[in-house]
Amino acid sequence: MEKEEYPRYLKPGFEPFDPVALASWTEDIVCKGSMRKYTDFYCTGVYGGISTGYTIGCCLRCIFCWVDFSRDFPEKFGSFYSPENAFEQLLKNAKKERVKRMRISGGEPTLCRNHLLSLLDLIEGKGYLFILETNGILFGADEGYAERLTKYTNIHVRVSLKAGTPQGFQRRTGAKGDFYELPYNAIRHLVKEKISFHVAAMSDPRLMPPEERVAMLKKLSEIGYKDSLEEETCDPYPHTIYRLKEAGLEIFNKESRTLKA
Ligand code: SF4
Repeated sequence: MEKEEYPRYLKPGFEPFDPVALASWTEDIVCKGSMRKYTDFYCTGVYGGISTGYTIGCCLRCIFCWVDFSRDFPEKFGSFYSPENAFEQLLKNAKKERVKRMRISGGEPTLCRNHLLSLLDLIEGKGYLFILETNGILFGADEGYAERLTKYTNIHVRVSLKAGTPQGFQRRTGAKGDFYELPYNAIRHLVKEKISFHVAAMSDPRLMPPEERVAMLKKLSEIGYKDSLEEETCDPYPHTIYRLKEAGLEIFNKESRTLKA
């Protein structure tokens, strides 16, 4: 993967990439030691109220992604925060809004491992539940990473599946189909380590064909995952509409062409 070809939003005929290599490449941009880039800290109403750090950087390029252009142009956005500074912001907003949950959103939280684990160390024992929303790529690639979570008593992982077949994975995330097993491996590793988690899936029928959804359910069943599946619907956020259209797919009536990088 050449530096000058850093993957942005997908266009027809895109070159599929190795998501683990892209994770590492993105970390070069958004991590500095144990610091990580964020653009904002705030509380939202999801999960019944949660203090959120909006971070930067992901190792997939989902065509339905709602995140702003910081995902595609991470070099242009955000400021570096140490784990201590990020925790301060999360705590300040949690206290202000009286919420008992925290998360990192806007990017893939498992990038910048040192930052995440140091942040979890700071949150541990303070009475907050950390909800770790992940695409499962890095937990799937490295069993040892999932094992590092076993020391925390206040964590719940949400693994979000994007596909049920290698073809669907490549088409909708930009990552090579060969890597589509990684999120399923993440589930295997989380089961093995007995970490609290559940599975979500972007199985909106406008994006995932019915036969692929069946393949996904079959795979989950083979893995032995029996808990509830949170099936997601693709909402018409401005950046979602833009990315779908750039990828050559229109699933909404209203569309926006006004966003600029
Ligand atoms: S939807 Fe999630 S995994 Fe996919 S590109 Fe956006 S932030 Fe990354």
